[in-house]
Amino acid sequence: MADDVKPAWELEQEARAVNAADWGPLPGTVKRKCLRCGYLFAVKAEEAEITATCPDCAPSQTRARSNNST
Ligand SMILES: [Zn+2]
Repeated sequence: MADDVKPAWELEQEARAVNAADWGPLPGTVKRKCLRCGYLFAVKAEEAEITATCPDCAPSQTRARSNNST
């Protein structure tokens, strides 16, 4: 019935597979690997030296991660 609905872990797996594929950062950005989760992400060249983690792991980001997610 729900053949079209993929479980979250499968979507995650696909995202990781795509992420692991070779991709080039946009002009003005550089490709970094998150020290925390290993995710590859693009960051502005001028922020590359101070950016060690991906946006999801960045501790100083104002974007709060909900602690009471269901
Ligand atoms: Zn990360």
